[in-house]
Amino acid sequence: MNNNFDVIIVGAGPGGYVAAIRSAQLGLKTACIESRKTLGGTCLNVGCIPSKSLLYASEMYYKVQKEFKNLGIEATGIKVNLSRMMGNKNKSVLTLTKGVEFLFKKNNISHLKGKGTILDNNTVTVIDDSDKKETYKTKNIIIATGSVPTSLPGIKIDEKVVVSSTGALSFDKNPKELIVIGGGYIGLELSSVWKRLGSNVTVIEYLDRIIPGMDKDISNEFLKILSKQGINFKLDCKVTGVNLVKDKAVVDITNNKTSKRERIEADKVLMAVGRKPNIGEDIIKLGIKLNNQKKIEVNEKFETSIKNIYAIGDVIDKGPMLAHKAEDEGIAAAEIIAGQAGHVNYNVIPVVIYTSPEVAMVGKNEDDLKKENIKYKIGKFPFLANSRAKVNSETEGFVKVIAEEKTDKVLGVALISSLAGTMIAELALAMEFGASAEDIARTCHAHPTHSEAVKEAAMAVDKRPIHF
Ligand SMILES: Cc1cc2nc3c(=O)[nH]c(=O)nc-3n(C[C@H](O)[C@H](O)[C@H](O)COP(=O)(O)OP(=O)(O)OC[C@H]3O[C@@H](n4cnc5c(N)ncnc54)[C@H](O)[C@@H]3O)c2cc1C
Repeated sequence: MNNNFDVIIVGAGPGGYVAAIRSAQLGLKTACIESRKTLGGTCLNVGCIPSKSLLYASEMYYKVQKEFKNLGIEATGIKVNLSRMMGNKNKSVLTLTKGVEFLFKKNNISHLKGKGTILDNNTVTVIDDSDKKETYKTKNIIIATGSVPTSLPGIKIDEKVVVSSTGALSFDKNPKELIVIGGGYIGLELSSVWKRLGSNVTVIEYLDRIIPGMDKDISNEFLKILSKQGINFKLDCKVTGVNLVKDKAVVDITNNKTSKRERIEADKVLMAVGRKPNIGEDIIKLGIKLNNQKKIEVNEKFETSIKNIYAIGDVIDKGPMLAHKAEDEGIAAAEIIAGQAGHVNYNVIPVVIYTSPEVAMVGKNEDDLKKENIKYKIGKFPFLANSRAKVNSETEGFVKVIAEEKTDKVLGVALISSLAGTMIAELALAMEFGASAEDIARTCHAHPTHSEAVKEAAMAVDKRPIHF
């Protein structure tokens, strides 16, 4: 193989592999380095895909037990075969990672297996499993090394009793008592999985609300829904220590307001306090500029502080740590390298939590707008008044549309619904095109669908919903 490339990408997660495909489509001679055995990064191997597989399977188990009876379907002898459920998850992961391998071959991308090290802005080395080192020359480099789980000071993740999300995606039996530290989306999705499969789950959150970055109304409603499903919450509580006693964990917490201390025991503790950018020694040595959170600083063209070295995805200082954000940045960076005008609109990046019901949001929330001193109006519509949701017994949640007071331009939308993750796409598209609430209100929505609630919420911005 000729070791000279137009672009070498370090990391084959959704940022890196998409950047590789787009670069190849644009005629650039492309290589992508990955140290994992399989392609697809965190997302395909230990993130989005395996978590969604377990969320789906556990939701089906929950529904067949609790909800089918109401539909006139009676099932007996329902039980979980966890190893089969895990097998199904692993099969999905394998199929999708193989799919990326196929796309690499189809697009003539060189898949360099091993750990990549950037020596300078034109040179990269790769050390494979057998310690064989190869040097490659390239005109451009894209860093797409992603992120890794983080912990609290003094608390070690051993992946046996104290686990990261990776460990919690592979328990061989459901823990009787599971403590989840962190009420963000990863903690809440995995809480849902193990609660449905029979664990007693307690979520400990430092702040006084779950999913702090989301709309407050949504966060409050979501807390009610998850509590009703049997998940215990200890909000406004600080974890001060996690100690192992025999094969159990003893977790010490202190209430931030009352200073009351409490000690709880669990079979497993899931540390879900966030992820940190994966910054290798080479990035430090090269002196690539990082922000105070140790994320790589990039400009709007994804250029780092060193010429010809770009960065995208979880490792950079822009946008939320999400797979679709990384993918869009991968496309934009490749296009910029090829001389085109790649761009990512950070105002319109949807965020979805794949619980049941799902939670989704795009654009700004009320807190953001208050801080920015922007005047706004709100339209809300509950699924209780939506015919399809009623027929399906999916009446929890609502749609909330926020529009600028003067211009009626949609600034943000948040919703809780069984189909929120799919429905949010309409709102992202509307916002991308600069739609007003009136534009959505005057768009014909099919009946009977959950999406009619979006139209109604848009009409409610002008105080004229029909069904509420
Ligand atoms: C449990 C969980 C659930 C999630 N669910 C969702 C979801 O539903 N939706 C969503 O949008 N996001 C989700 N995410 C987040 C999502 O996985 C990340 O935002 C996304 O994977 C980031 O993509 P990336 O390409 O930046 O990095 P990554 O996916 O982290 O990929 C980076 C890759 O680079 C490789 N690498 C690092 N350094 C080197 C090196 N020196 N040499 C060679 N290879 C290297 C790593 O092995 C890794 O494979 C989830 C994450 C977790 C943990």
